[in-house]
Amino acid sequence: MNLVLFGPPGAGKGTQARVLQEQRGWPQLSTGEMLRDASRAGTELGLTTRSLMDRGELVSDEIVIAIIAGRLDRPDCADGAVFDGFPRTIPQAEALDTMLRGRSRQIDLVIELKVKDDVLIERVEQRIREGGRVRADDTADTLRHRLDIYYGNTAPLLGYYRGQAKLATVDGMAPIAEVTAAVAGLIGTHAKSPDGSPGRPAGRNDLDVRAR
Ligand code: AMP
Repeated sequence: MNLVLFGPPGAGKGTQARVLQEQRGWPQLSTGEMLRDASRAGTELGLTTRSLMDRGELVSDEIVIAIIAGRLDRPDCADGAVFDGFPRTIPQAEALDTMLRGRSRQIDLVIELKVKDDVLIERVEQRIREGGRVRADDTADTLRHRLDIYYGNTAPLLGYYRGQAKLATVDGMAPIAEVTAAVAGLIGTHAKSPDGSPGRPAGRNDLDVRAR
């Protein structure tokens, strides 16, 4: 299954992607992680993207699309993958659809982890208080900027995927284990539905699955 985990920065996409990778063997394709690896390795890609990332700006569509295009053909993606932090713009989503179609695959399901802004800000502030800040972009101010970008550039993808009847929503403010269970429930429902839609292909609220 090819699954997109969707949501604002800090919603828990990475946490859930790692669980899915471990439990189901679908690799976590995190463009943010790949860019941080490139930055740590000091490659040209890492050097050109680092300051944008540190400031919470988006890297160009061209760069992240090329990264994903290269990654998709690795054998571990043959049974599917979990997209974490990609796509973040409409052109990225369109490119992803085209890339998958060219490989006789498609995005099967998009799961939005819904978390209120003040909860996201509180999470980052708590991490800083506890001394757990490990990323340059992990500050309350940068997060506020990343949220502006999320609502401006990325949230429109909700409509894009709702239009394809692929979108389901989970309460990302529930405890991690409950979010994991809700995600597993959606994947199970999708696997059983013959038309490939996430459960009942009806109105928006019908697709919402609250973790509690
Ligand atoms: P993340 O780890 O997903 O929070 O991403 C960290 C940073 O990497 C983002 O703030 C962007 O600067 C960059 N980045 C990651 N994925 C993308 C993407 N799909 N499009 C543009 N920039 C991205």
